Amino acid sequence: MDFESWWLIFMPLLFALGWIAARFDFRHILSETRHLPDSYFKGLNFLLNEQPDRAIDAFVEVAKLDPETVDLHFALGSLFRRRGETERAIRVHQSLLLRADLPEIKREHALHELAQDYLKAGMLDRAETAYLELESTAYSVQAKRALVRIYESERDWVRAIEAVKQLGQQVDESVPQRVHYYCEIAQKALELKPHDLPAARQAIQGANQVVRDDPNASTPASRARLLMLRATLAALEGDDQAQREQLLAVLDQAPEYAGLMAQQLITVDTRLQGNAIQTLSMHYQIYPSLDLFQVIFKTLRTQQDSETAWLFARDALRAHPSLLGLDSLIEVELAQTDQVVPDPNAPLDSRALNKDDLMLLRSVMKQHSQRLDRYTCQVCGFQAKRYYWQCPGCHGWETYRPRRLEEN
Ligand SMILES: [Zn+2]
Repeated sequence: MDFESWWLIFMPLLFALGWIAARFDFRHILSETRHLPDSYFKGLNFLLNEQPDRAIDAFVEVAKLDPETVDLHFALGSLFRRRGETERAIRVHQSLLLRADLPEIKREHALHELAQDYLKAGMLDRAETAYLELESTAYSVQAKRALVRIYESERDWVRAIEAVKQLGQQVDESVPQRVHYYCEIAQKALELKPHDLPAARQAIQGANQVVRDDPNASTPASRARLLMLRATLAALEGDDQAQREQLLAVLDQAPEYAGLMAQQLITVDTRLQGNAIQTLSMHYQIYPSLDLFQVIFKTLRTQQDSETAWLFARDALRAHPSLLGLDSLIEVELAQTDQVVPDPNAPLDSRALNKDDLMLLRSVMKQHSQRLDRYTCQVCGFQAKRYYWQCPGCHGWETYRPRRLEEN
């Protein structure tokens, strides 16, 4: 038999087999569906018609009629949780866990669902206990990630560090927030009254070690933060030189973040009679930012002369027109005007922009500029007056750029 005629017999045979298999499968489905209660189909229908309340009632009915339906309980529990009915979700998953006949794999699934219920309900202690129980199961990685989130929200940085370290051993990914965890500990120690300098030093050393072990953990944001913390530590130790060195290092290691520490640098540099203002002005040419503009303009105006300050401001605003820049320019001008006793005999044209004019101009501008004077999370859009390393909205790390809304 040649190849073509062999096919002529084989193809119809394949079709016949497929038809028989389909009929068998269809009959199997039909026989199974006959065993399902009507409420199940009602619930399905309500779900398809986007009536989740009535769907839930119908499914609860099915669950009562047939308590063995484990998967339906899972579906119900997760529906309750998604709708914010965490108490009902918890009850469903707890009742599943109480079953003696539940296979181990389903028990772990139920415990994972219950842990998510507790987390959503804000019951962090119970969520933590449930996730800790899941550490040696198939849900280990999810449990570790959730534990990190729990320790972060409790601001328990020591345990967060440990959890992230263990997570890093399970999944091959860099965790840059480990540096921030150490920075949080250091910052807290520096803010304590009285300051806990040994604790701050130890935390900073911990952050240094993380960066040494994993160079990917070092980001511009974490570098800037670490340098600024070292500078604050040096300031509290009374070492002006060291403080200035750490702050100047930000310009090289995290140039975009200069605006966050510029005022601190000017303050210490003025004590040391240095010329950081020139360094900052040159830095501004390459990395312009509003925060930096404001510090440079104010410093030039107060430490040098108004002409130098105005020349800088004019060039800067020409290159990067900005309402907030103009606003801070008028603010400094007003502060200076307050110190000058007006000359009532001065000719009219020299008083063309007197204090009242400046105040009027500023109040008009303020209405527009105020909403732009915010840092914004790049992930969730949360806006804040102050700069955050961790977004208070979405809890993401390093999601803020060191730039005001107007500059984005
Ligand atoms: Zn956010």
